[in-house]
Amino acid sequence: MSSTITGKPTFTRTFAAHLFAPIKITWQQFIDLLVPFRHSPHIRNHAASVTISRVQLVAALFAVLVPACAVLDWFVFPFPEWAQMTGMRMTAALVFVLLAWPWESGKSRLQADAILMALLLVPPVFYLMSIRVISGLELSESGKLAAKLYALMPNIVLAGLAIFPLTALEVLLFSLPAFAFAIIGYYMNGQPLSLVQHGPELWLMVLVMGVAMFSGMSQLHYMAALVNRAMVDPLTGAYTRRSGGETLDLLFRLAALQNAPLSVAFIDLDKFKSINDTFGHDEGDKALRALSEKLKDGLRKGDVLVRWGGEEFVAILNNTDAPGAKIVIERLREAGFGNRPDGKPMTASIGVAERGVDNARDWPELIEAADHRMYEAKKTGRDRAVLPGGDVMVFGPPIE
Ligand code: GH3
Ligand code: MG
Ligand code: MG
Repeated sequence: MSSTITGKPTFTRTFAAHLFAPIKITWQQFIDLLVPFRHSPHIRNHAASVTISRVQLVAALFAVLVPACAVLDWFVFPFPEWAQMTGMRMTAALVFVLLAWPWESGKSRLQADAILMALLLVPPVFYLMSIRVISGLELSESGKLAAKLYALMPNIVLAGLAIFPLTALEVLLFSLPAFAFAIIGYYMNGQPLSLVQHGPELWLMVLVMGVAMFSGMSQLHYMAALVNRAMVDPLTGAYTRRSGGETLDLLFRLAALQNAPLSVAFIDLDKFKSINDTFGHDEGDKALRALSEKLKDGLRKGDVLVRWGGEEFVAILNNTDAPGAKIVIERLREAGFGNRPDGKPMTASIGVAERGVDNARDWPELIEAADHRMYEAKKTGRDRAVLPGGDVMVFGPPIE
């Protein structure tokens, strides 16, 4: 969180701060809103499931509205054209029913993008087919009105994009078919592309796309802020136990699937209560914050720090075997766990477990093994780590 856009009152910072107010935004977070796949898996999954539920909702609505509007075709178009239009409406309604169906499947970003693209393609395809059906007909005034309304389909698609939490690039990509269909429609209507005739329409489409882009990005930003707020412990910035458990569950399944190593380190500060008792709760809080910073600095990018309980942390060491975990513990201990308010270094008792070595069948078993070793470290003198296989790393002399 080094440089918040709201940090210094330059023009761009003030502009961006107002754009996403009241939630603050950093440059990093702003860039995350431009292109997909930069958010954490938690946020991506959340955005994907919101996208899928909204696609289902819109599809269910259209599955009813599109066939119901066949009544209008019966009044404004002659036979057999109205019958053809009704057939097209029924086909579109069938696609909408399939899209609205609550299929039992995962909710990945790619699935969300695929189902959204399918939803967005139906109205413009319907528009192009309607041109084929009614072109060459002598239309009544109301028939012309209906044809003009169908020509708005690409715009409706662009406006509809505004209800989805998407990055700027995604909105741009999802908009391209709408522009392509609009231009193909001009040709099918026998109108060569003319800037004077079509420029204003296309300009309006660009504006609608811009609004959809802003709406998608701000929804995504609010969602990311809420998900982060729910996942992160406000005192230490580490993951909460709940979100840490979810992450561990995910990483454990992946590791088991790929037969990859996965280690956890259960870290419990030694004699922490005495800090509170001697120096007060605020000093205890400060020490916890400092410890969390130290631990985060010492971990690699793919590792996850979780505040498991009061002064207990779990470091999830992704793709790390037992010797690798030992190196991490050495590095953490070398950097230290921060100081007590009286200047003495804080120490910790650590228990390490590894999925393969400990034969853990699920993540709670892995945590249990690490917790058990942490207690062994406490019992045998504190300020030490007990590793998978029972190896002990003694850091300093026993503390009183
Ligand atoms: P041991 O070496 O056996 O682990 O001793 P300990 O004093 O660290 O262990 P114990 O589990 O008895 O005490 C943990 C203390 O952590 C108890 C509680 O007062 C303190 N604590 C828990 N959460 C917080 C917090 O959010 N802020 C502060 N300041 N203290 C906390
Ligand atoms: Mg404890
Ligand atoms: Mg303790």
